[in-house]
Amino acid sequence: MIVIKVGGSEGIDLRALCMDIAVLIQEGQQLVLVHGGSARTNQVAAQLGHPPQFVTSVSGYTSRRTDRETLRIFEMVYCGEVNKGIVEMLQAVGVNAVGLSGIDGRLLEGKRKETIKIVDGTGRRMVLRDDYTGTVEHVNTALLNLLLANGYLPVITPPAISEAGEAINVDGDRAAAFIAASLKADKLIILSNVPGLLRDFPDEASLITRIDPAHIGEFMEHAQGRMRIKVLGAMEAIEQGVAQVIFADGRIAQPVHAALAGRGTVIGAKPL
Ligand code: ADP
Repeated sequence: MIVIKVGGSEGIDLRALCMDIAVLIQEGQQLVLVHGGSARTNQVAAQLGHPPQFVTSVSGYTSRRTDRETLRIFEMVYCGEVNKGIVEMLQAVGVNAVGLSGIDGRLLEGKRKETIKIVDGTGRRMVLRDDYTGTVEHVNTALLNLLLANGYLPVITPPAISEAGEAINVDGDRAAAFIAASLKADKLIILSNVPGLLRDFPDEASLITRIDPAHIGEFMEHAQGRMRIKVLGAMEAIEQGVAQVIFADGRIAQPVHAALAGRGTVIGAKPL
């Protein structure tokens, strides 16, 4: 079982990914696809007159400020345009994909953070209370296994759902890590618009090709901005028993086959 996470950044070739997935399924691979939609959400939010805002937690992770209106726009883009766009592309290449958000069938359950502690631009600490964010703590694997056993490809998107039944914005990379661990997947492939984790971002020649899982924490220093969450997600997946996490290029042809052949940053044993 392989869980693939694809980002929504500029340059990612979703059509190439969908064609690659069609081949992998013909090869007998069991797959689950998780996607993001951050860049498109930023555009739509700006067009709707509710420009995106990002906050940095005291532990140094950046996330989208998600008030009720942002959540509405987030659902429009992630669950609507992006999710249905990917499902349509997969259907066009003969893959019977089913799009699901974390709310559907309580697929991704988590706790809403009652408060988030952030640091503003001047280093001042603040507490936010009206934010709809959280972290995934439970995956409805029964629902996923039902689909997988019947030949469907689940295409999963945030938001998740809180215990009280509210939609909550969760990070897609960490959600994918949690899904991979819950399904006891052996690989998690995180596709983005970079070749992998770069030692000196944005120098693509500085690609880190291999990370020993025991030392992954030391590589956090190379990641900036959104890449930090990906490294955190990779750490969480490995800690929970996923044997291999690969950060790979989502801009190229056959991105998953390339990742499986060892192109990218491989955390865990190097592929043969
Ligand atoms: P996606 O939308 O594909 O999930 P993000 O934009 O959230 O991806 O995160 C990937 C981005 O992280 C890259 O496009 C790059 O700008 C940034 N980044 C920061 N530090 C690094 C690094 N050391 N190596 C690779 N990318 C990095």
